[in-house]
Amino acid sequence: MIQLNNGQYEIGGIPVSELVQKYQAPVYVYDSAIMERQYTQLKTAFAGADTNIKFACKALNNINVLKFFKSLGAGLDTVSIQEVWTGIKAGFNPKAIIYTPNCVSMEEIDLAVKEGVQINIDNISILEQFGNKYSDTVPVSVRINPHIMAGGNINISTGHIDSKFGISIYQMRHVERVVKSTKVKVNGIHMHTGSDILDVDVFLRATEILFEVTGSFPDLEFIDLGSGFKVPYKPDDYYTDVNDIGPKLTARFNEFCTAYGKPLQLWFEPGKFLVSQSGTFLVKVNVIKQTTASVFIGVDSGLNHLIRPMFYNSYHHITNASNPEGVQRIYTVVGYICETDTFAWDRKLSEVREGDILAFQNAGAYGFTMSSNYNSRFRPAEVMIYNGKDYLVRKRETMEDILRNQVEIPGLG
Ligand SMILES: *Cc1c(COP(=O)(O)O)cnc(C)c1O
Repeated sequence: MIQLNNGQYEIGGIPVSELVQKYQAPVYVYDSAIMERQYTQLKTAFAGADTNIKFACKALNNINVLKFFKSLGAGLDTVSIQEVWTGIKAGFNPKAIIYTPNCVSMEEIDLAVKEGVQINIDNISILEQFGNKYSDTVPVSVRINPHIMAGGNINISTGHIDSKFGISIYQMRHVERVVKSTKVKVNGIHMHTGSDILDVDVFLRATEILFEVTGSFPDLEFIDLGSGFKVPYKPDDYYTDVNDIGPKLTARFNEFCTAYGKPLQLWFEPGKFLVSQSGTFLVKVNVIKQTTASVFIGVDSGLNHLIRPMFYNSYHHITNASNPEGVQRIYTVVGYICETDTFAWDRKLSEVREGDILAFQNAGAYGFTMSSNYNSRFRPAEVMIYNGKDYLVRKRETMEDILRNQVEIPGLG
């Protein structure tokens, strides 16, 4: 998070100019104090129940970030065996890791079983194979699709009828049959409806649907309500009010546990809520290009480093960190990739000069983790501010990284 202090922009108390001088641009900077603030806010909001928060590491997978959340007491939400391995390398107890893959092979699930993590299954075919193989020796949870349409871009909504995610609420009889015949032990039920809870009541309704199916599962230990916690991206933007939803949901959850007949744990797996605001992406202005219709700012980055604006049409607030006092002018900010990689149209920024540093806010989630080497560009460095000090936590790539796995045919060329 970037802040103006005594006429200069800082991140986590460290001047942007200092960070850029030390690490160059483009660079992702994460302020761990903001991660902690977000974690504590969520933990406090849901303190009314036996709540466990699992950081969805696909949002930001640097091992130092994982270790930091572990130090706060969080668990981990993973969607691939590689994320499971990273979590174990970061020191998480396998029992604190939930593995929620989609459309993976039984072989990959076997590898996760070997690691001892909580397996979460999202289709009946695999549930049946799993039950036939492990019966009641390895517990599983099931991902249910309640078909509630949460808000946000269609690319992040997963609860609707056309979604590939989860086992439909209308297939519970089939699930019961599989459970009964294979004796597989279902210890949890899960949903993750999409990424933006815009309406607390819609979320509570989805929760009720989940409570209703628990009658089919007598061995539950937890209910995982996924994520969907939205953070504000611009001044007046809508966000999920966790202080509103927390007490309402935990009261209802405890009531449900009484009816179910035993205390259960309440799990959540936020990504964006925990890390989005902690991250700032710093880029340098290469060129200012006046065309017939616009003033383009071309920066030393593009959709290879931050694809969210192009993929999700997301808004990222941009600050000219080099010119706090400049007059406001209208610009269109674009990348250097040979694609139309527009970060922002018609954006008001304090006057931009070539060489200035622009700061993209809300860049902690799905920023670096979605980056690529397109156009043979290097992925940027990552810096983490921890206990008031800045640390390089990922080196900028080099030509060796670009060529690393390429194999040349002998005698060619
Ligand atoms: C991506 C994902 C999350 C995190 O979503 P956010 O919108 O970043 O909070 C949680 N659970 C699952 C299963 C996911 O795939």
